[in-house]
Amino acid sequence: MRDRALRAIAECRHIAAMTEDPGRITRRYLTPPMRSVHAHLRARMEAMGMRVSVDAAGNLRGVWQPLHASGRRLLMGSHVDTVPDAGAFDGVLGVALALEMVAVAQELALPLAIEVIAFSEEEGVRFAVPFIGSRAVAGRIETALLALNDAEGITLETAIRDFGLDPGQMEEAVAGEGALAFVEFHIEQGPVLEAEGLSLAAVTGIVGQTRLSVEFTGQANHAGTTPMHLRRDALAAAAEWITAVETLALHTEGLVATVGKISVAPNAGNVIPGTALVSIDVRHLHDSVRKEVVDALLAQAEAIAARRGLTLQCTRQVDQPAAPMDERLTAFLAEAIEAAGLPVKRMPSGAGHDAMVMASRMPAAMLFLRSPRGISHHPAETVREEDVEAALHVGRNFLARLAAEIG
Ligand SMILES: [Zn+2]
Repeated sequence: MRDRALRAIAECRHIAAMTEDPGRITRRYLTPPMRSVHAHLRARMEAMGMRVSVDAAGNLRGVWQPLHASGRRLLMGSHVDTVPDAGAFDGVLGVALALEMVAVAQELALPLAIEVIAFSEEEGVRFAVPFIGSRAVAGRIETALLALNDAEGITLETAIRDFGLDPGQMEEAVAGEGALAFVEFHIEQGPVLEAEGLSLAAVTGIVGQTRLSVEFTGQANHAGTTPMHLRRDALAAAAEWITAVETLALHTEGLVATVGKISVAPNAGNVIPGTALVSIDVRHLHDSVRKEVVDALLAQAEAIAARRGLTLQCTRQVDQPAAPMDERLTAFLAEAIEAAGLPVKRMPSGAGHDAMVMASRMPAAMLFLRSPRGISHHPAETVREEDVEAALHVGRNFLARLAAEIG
């Protein structure tokens, strides 16, 4: 598997050179470098005996259909678009490893059809809406999306046509009855596996997310003439609440909560703050826990505001449910990790992935590979050769199990 690991890493480095911005990796949806990625992957897939097509959303899809396998196939892959000034492995590694999995299936003569999908859009950089690629495959492209504009005023519909595709054929991109399941290999993009000294983890699900803005309103006044006990300081109230957010998050297993943004008015050194508008982002794998925590935090904000003579206003911006991965497939992955002689680690994903969208259409599972130093969405993003090799061992065990299961 060492040669395959080295080849997958080299593939990511090679694709990294296909960029809108020489010297940096930036590859937005349906831009010219995406065409180069398609030409490169198409040639490789065809050389492996796969049937290749590009769907109306710009996803490159290659199907390996063994002679004596049923028409039902395993879908594997990840995305090939990037954030600006990206690393070489986010998304692309999942495609490179999916191709190695096809090679493994061919070598073992497994009676298992595999479709490799290089999703065209996951990051949401060009049209400010993420997952356009996997939405198309999951049947979740609403017609309204086609009217979205990019920064240059080009609509999604025009961008699709300019790429030589027909937005009218979006329905044909949807995975049909033949799709058995979706499995995605992806870098963790966080520090957990690194901190625990582990190569891999089976992902239990993608966390749900609540985002709110909370505004404390008091009274702006003179910083010199207003005694402390006669103030209604909005920023001091917000500060008290922010530490309460951190405390509750620290004491709730598996929860992350972040106040990442604050704006204060009038925002002057000699004026008591009259309003403080803060953002909060709360995530957990279990929707019930997330809801309980959000309710508790809002009650605390109300109490703090009342005690200080302030008013409070909340606006809910995002309320996205968690996307659990398929239990049976995830158990297969865990067994495959164990069979590879590695400790079995299960963990949720704090970030969204194509597997989250695909899970709305079919059973889905995800394998995380350690992110050295926890760094991602950055040119320093990398992978360890031994982890990629371990992922290939796990992938082989998983494919063999799945083939036996459906055979
Ligand atoms: Zn990604």
